[in-house]
Amino acid sequence: MPKLAEEYEDLRKTVEAFARDVVAPVIGDLYEREEFPYDIVRQMGAMGLFGLPIPEEHGGMGGDYFALCLALEELARVDSSVSITLEAAVSLGAMPIYRFGTAEQRAEWLPRLASGEALGAFGLTEPGGGSDVPGGMRTTAVLDGDEWVINGSKAFITNSGTDITGVVGVAAITGERENGKKEISTILVPSGTPGFTVSKKYSKVGWNCSDTRELSFTDCRVPAANLLGERGRGYAQFLQTLDEGRIAIAALSVGLAQGCVDESLRYVHERRAFGHPIGHYQAIQFKIADMEVRTHTARLAYHHAAELMLAGEPFKKEAAIAKLVSSNAAMDNARDATQIFGGYGFMNEYPVGRFYRDAKILEIGEGTSEVQRMLIARELGLSSL
Ligand SMILES: Cc1cc2nc3c(=O)[nH]c(=O)nc-3n(C[C@H](O)[C@H](O)[C@H](O)COP(=O)(O)OP(=O)(O)OC[C@H]3O[C@@H](n4cnc5c(N)ncnc54)[C@H](O)[C@@H]3O)c2cc1C
Repeated sequence: MPKLAEEYEDLRKTVEAFARDVVAPVIGDLYEREEFPYDIVRQMGAMGLFGLPIPEEHGGMGGDYFALCLALEELARVDSSVSITLEAAVSLGAMPIYRFGTAEQRAEWLPRLASGEALGAFGLTEPGGGSDVPGGMRTTAVLDGDEWVINGSKAFITNSGTDITGVVGVAAITGERENGKKEISTILVPSGTPGFTVSKKYSKVGWNCSDTRELSFTDCRVPAANLLGERGRGYAQFLQTLDEGRIAIAALSVGLAQGCVDESLRYVHERRAFGHPIGHYQAIQFKIADMEVRTHTARLAYHHAAELMLAGEPFKKEAAIAKLVSSNAAMDNARDATQIFGGYGFMNEYPVGRFYRDAKILEIGEGTSEVQRMLIARELGLSSL
């Protein structure tokens, strides 16, 4: 683990203890019942985790994005559903309002989002496509007097249907540019707005305690003032939001990869075969050594991307590298940890089975691994060949 400055290390230790003492004892049962962890989320709110990168004047903790990443990593060492709930609420829900919102929008939403009293969500993906967002987008928003009228649907939206969901940022087509391309804008739609319907939650392979829904909009009217930032800036806003979000997902992935190392190290001392603890055998030792290598290098990659971001330097390529490397690490470690646990790895009673189910989405969400490679190639000037 790279040495952290004192305030970061204090935060990391606090979240580590919370994950161990509060999350770990109850999450297995909640996961099996596919229940949203309201009580855990309430306690995370009280700890200030939802306000980590938000300035104090808006009700936040006045920290930064790296602090958020450390919290995500420590939570994901124990459970990814809890970690993604925090990630989506802050990185996708609150940060766009903080970065692009008007003074009124910030005043209305940030104190509630930063305290965890309300959760934010970001509705970008549609049933017709998530990698090619502009190509797949069908949702429209038409200005009618002083109201936007929204029609369309969104797929796979995290945090969008909980009892405490407050607002969803909805990307929609608001017109056509002179060059014939879609004009995309983001509009804030509060939960409960007439014409905004949240479907029942999906049945998922993993992230079973995280809330994921399909949304539909039928003549859904919100005030014109709910436009986030400038009209036509929606595409630029989500590109920036996703660049940052990739560092956060990388941190979550590193947490899962580390959790696999932690659990495996414990187990190989206990489990015996052929007269020795299984950790005696070099085949097992090498597996754990490889898991440690992946976790360590992935952590360095996300720390580097976060460092560039906080310094105000370009970080698009490094964020994509961090996301790609760390989601690979999470997948590979989950597979190896499950193998080390043998039959027990396939049982829900041990966390590694949950890690296995939770790892796959990390290669898909907030840009698939193919999309990360496209971004890296583009940054290397290859896409114009
Ligand atoms: C649990 C969960 C939570 C999510 N939360 C949110 C959320 O909160 N908000 C939100 O907006 N979205 C969310 N998503 C959506 C997620 O970001 C998308 O699923 C993801 O971006 C991929 O889009 P898609 O599913 O439409 O796949 P597609 O875009 O249809 O891609 C299908 C396959 O084709 C590949 N592919 C596509 N184009 C190319 C190309 N040019 N070259 C090579 N390969 C290509 C992809 O990599 C992928 O393997 C969530 C998804 C899940 C499953």
